[in-house]
Amino acid sequence: ERARLARLRHTPAVTLDGERIELHANIELPADAAAAVEAGATGVGLFRSEFLFMNRDGELPTEEEQFQAYKAAVEAMRGMPVTIRTVDVGADKPLDRMSANELRHEHVLNPAMGLRAIRWSLAEPSMFRQQLRAIYRASAFGKIRLLIPMVAHLSEVRQILDTLKRVKQQLDDNGQAYTQVDLGVMIEIPAAAVMLPLLLPHVDFVSIGTNDLIQYTLAIDRADEAVAHLYDPWHPAVLQLIASSISQARAAGKSVSVCGEMAGDAVFTDLLLAMGLRNFSMHPSQIPSVKQRILRADSQKLKGALPAILSSEDPEKTASQAFAASSQRL
Ligand code: PEP
Ligand code: MG
Repeated sequence: ERARLARLRHTPAVTLDGERIELHANIELPADAAAAVEAGATGVGLFRSEFLFMNRDGELPTEEEQFQAYKAAVEAMRGMPVTIRTVDVGADKPLDRMSANELRHEHVLNPAMGLRAIRWSLAEPSMFRQQLRAIYRASAFGKIRLLIPMVAHLSEVRQILDTLKRVKQQLDDNGQAYTQVDLGVMIEIPAAAVMLPLLLPHVDFVSIGTNDLIQYTLAIDRADEAVAHLYDPWHPAVLQLIASSISQARAAGKSVSVCGEMAGDAVFTDLLLAMGLRNFSMHPSQIPSVKQRILRADSQKLKGALPAILSSEDPEKTASQAFAASSQRL
């Protein structure tokens, strides 16, 4: 079993019809990069930088501390791309109480819909610039992609672009090195998926966060046990938003990944391939099982089943029938 897994690690993720699939890792701290490499990841698709900000005694990480963390992750990935998401605190990822008080981030009525993620970053511009400077400085040591969480408004993208201009000017003035960094936004609020044609011209890539996309599309708190039975990745509205986001991004020539839990669950691999997804990001431990499915998949045949699935009253059942049939034909 160990030998088989080791062999699998070095096997490229290519479908039977020759489509090359990128399998990236989700990490929370730089030390997780080792597990990503070990699992055969071809990059980091989501570095949840908020873990550098959580469980601290009242102070936030300095620019220097962040720079060292991002640099360590990039170096550990040995030239493979590292997608760093700016801080996404709030709701299910709270700061400790002292930092929270200091940052007016304490008790709010509805934290999932409150001042979190990019909203918080834009409300704390000097904290945001510090993080962006740290990320850009780390780009001198490897391939970095910058990812922004919870974007819902075009005005947010404009503010991000303005802030980036200012940050690059500061780095130039200080003689600090950086290289080109691709900019991407998370598609995890339904508004962003619906207005994707307006967002795409301003970004280099998008990453679909299915965890929050399901929460906000279905109005189901992802952390509330009482409604957990209604949290349904197979809901037709969810599938339509994911499918249309993938196809619109691809049609615009922009790279698109899924970094929510659906990407790492092999139950959804055929479906996401059918939708045209070629970049998956997941916990490193999930890479082998998703890769095994990919090695047995024919993306062209899977694609043929998509219209029936997307128009079905019971997409889960339609998908399992259609995909069973298409794998028998192989
Ligand atoms: C998501 O929402 O799907 C996602 C990847 O981000 P997080 O789980 O960190 O909110
Ligand atoms: Mg999210």
